[in-house]
Amino acid sequence: MLNLFAQEINKLAEQMVAEGQKPYRATQLFTWIYEKKARSFDEMSDVSLKFREVLKEKYTLELPSLYLKQESSDGTIKCLVALKDGAKVETVLMRYSYGNAVCVSSQVGCNMGCSFCSSGQLGKQRNLTVDEMIGQILIINQLLEAEGKGEKVTHVVVMGTGEPFDNYDNLMDFIRIVNHPKGFEIGARHITVSTCGLPDGIRKYAHEGLQTNLAISLHAPNNELRNQLMKINKVYPLETLMPAIKEYEKVSGRRVTYEYLLLSELNDTKEYADQLINLIKGTMGYVNLIPYNETNLCSYKRSSGNRIHQFLDYLTKGGVTATIRKEFGSDIDAACGQLRAKVEKNII
Ligand code: SAH
Repeated sequence: MLNLFAQEINKLAEQMVAEGQKPYRATQLFTWIYEKKARSFDEMSDVSLKFREVLKEKYTLELPSLYLKQESSDGTIKCLVALKDGAKVETVLMRYSYGNAVCVSSQVGCNMGCSFCSSGQLGKQRNLTVDEMIGQILIINQLLEAEGKGEKVTHVVVMGTGEPFDNYDNLMDFIRIVNHPKGFEIGARHITVSTCGLPDGIRKYAHEGLQTNLAISLHAPNNELRNQLMKINKVYPLETLMPAIKEYEKVSGRRVTYEYLLLSELNDTKEYADQLINLIKGTMGYVNLIPYNETNLCSYKRSSGNRIHQFLDYLTKGGVTATIRKEFGSDIDAACGQLRAKVEKNII
């Protein structure tokens, strides 16, 4: 069985043609599931009874369900989403002044093993399917709809659990559905993918012809520290990663965002700011400084507000554009993987 929510529209059109149908059937089905929100084939009144039966034999409309939700005083909603095999992933709604952003997970767990991140603690169980990623947006849209203010998801960041470029093909179909006018109709510039820095994925992504945003989790400006924080750096060190980023910028014409987690007394000194400036000088990218969400799974400490601002100042004076990431949901289990880790360990 195929899941209809997993089908990218052009691929669906090909499947329809293979069924002896006209390609426009794909658009018709997209309209039913995304615009008219049909959740059964019997609702599709302008599809013949006979073809509905064919569809029922080949496709399901199964979606993940909301298992648990935590709402913060700032309106942030963190959801634990249950998948059909019982696995659970986190999805977060963040309310910015410019819109509603959803942080989507791309894998159950993660194999990248970053030492500061709770998501990787349990390893990777499997990739998410396209419908499981789409389902996360649908759940958030449902929550927004229930609020009755006519709001919906306007921005998507693939920055939840998992390494998106380790699930490349599903990620691409997901993005095309999110972006398509008959899908979620979310503009490419409102879509961001965050990677720990897999050079092959970065290069391939450059050639997709998309105007989406790419964020690189850098976190350290030299191999010694990056090896400590992100074991993937031992496989793809900075001298392999940086050329891939330069190629991405050249091919796509887009600048990347470097995510830089500030860890107290570890990577937040002037020396590190200088190294960071030197490292990214040849690229067009800018830096997003991330205040660390402390977890009890490791001993890293968050840099103080003063130090974060000082670091920002060093970068700005060094000619690098930088911002500090706005924090959401500080009164709930906001750190990546924290909620899932707690539930899996029966703490809540
Ligand atoms: N694998 C991808 C996307 C998932 S992680 C990537 O590495 O980019 C999303 C972002 O959250 C990454 O920048 C990651 O380094 C960061 N992150 C992980 N744990 C965090 C924590 N406890 N506090 C703040 N940011 C964290």
